[in-house]
Amino acid sequence: MANENYGIVVHGGAGVLSNLSSEQQQIIEKKVSETLISAYKILQNGGSSLDAVEFAVSEFEDSPLFNAGRGSVYTSEEVQEMDASIMFGLDRSAGAVASVKKVKNPIRLARKVFEKTEHVLLVGDGAEAFAKSIGEPIVDPEYFYSEKNLQRLRKVKSKLVQNQLIQDKIGTVGAVALDKSGNIAAATSTGGMTNKMPGRIGDTPIIGSGTWAQNEICGVSSTGHGEFFIKFQIAKEVCTRIEYLNQSLAESATDVIEELKKIGATGGLIAIDKDANISTPFNTDGMIRGSITNRSELNFAIY
Ligand code: ASP
Repeated sequence: MANENYGIVVHGGAGVLSNLSSEQQQIIEKKVSETLISAYKILQNGGSSLDAVEFAVSEFEDSPLFNAGRGSVYTSEEVQEMDASIMFGLDRSAGAVASVKKVKNPIRLARKVFEKTEHVLLVGDGAEAFAKSIGEPIVDPEYFYSEKNLQRLRKVKSKLVQNQLIQDKIGTVGAVALDKSGNIAAATSTGGMTNKMPGRIGDTPIIGSGTWAQNEICGVSSTGHGEFFIKFQIAKEVCTRIEYLNQSLAESATDVIEELKKIGATGGLIAIDKDANISTPFNTDGMIRGSITNRSELNFAIY
């Protein structure tokens, strides 16, 4: 059945963004806008929301601008461990990978998990062995190297108590889309949080926390202090309130992020509903975000 409305919303993380230079802001805006335009074309041409969100997130993973793929932050042991998940609202297909160190595009592998296995979440060496077995690109960990992120880790480590996590300036990436067939998809990818313990997995690959897609209700991709997003099942919670409390997308999404703020949990989310309404609440200084729908032109904002 053809759907009247369609669109896509993306984020590049919520965090401490107050000291981004205007030049940095422009570079980010260019990348986000170009990605959005290409992803929106997929939807305009009748393509699936799953393809659109996978495309958008993999573009961000290939860019050193974001904390995902090439721009991933470091664990306390100076290793980059990446997490990603993707979900399709038509049938709740969902795939995720966690703690991968050599997979060029964790989001593509996450999709393969549901397309080619009976599982939802693969982690570490097993996920990488699966990537190899299906020919998904594996790279030397050197590919993800980021001098800036390494220096940032060393700087915070010298000042902090052990195991303290750092909410990063540039964050996790995500995309949520509704296509012309009425299918909602969501995808999220991250390097996690600076100074995380080796093996720590955040909300990003946890279905219902970092990512959720449910046709006729909504799709969500979260970013923020992952431990809270797991404990409060944030992505699913937004959709659950719409489904059972009859709330609008904006009411539900805003309330959830406000409630997190009250308990000291920082972050934000992007969401789209079955009518292509979009909501992007956050309780941090800023959240990199942008959207296009059939009713609204390209929209980009950080603060
Ligand atoms: N949610 C991510 C994590 O906890 C980090 C982020 O969104 O900045 O791993």
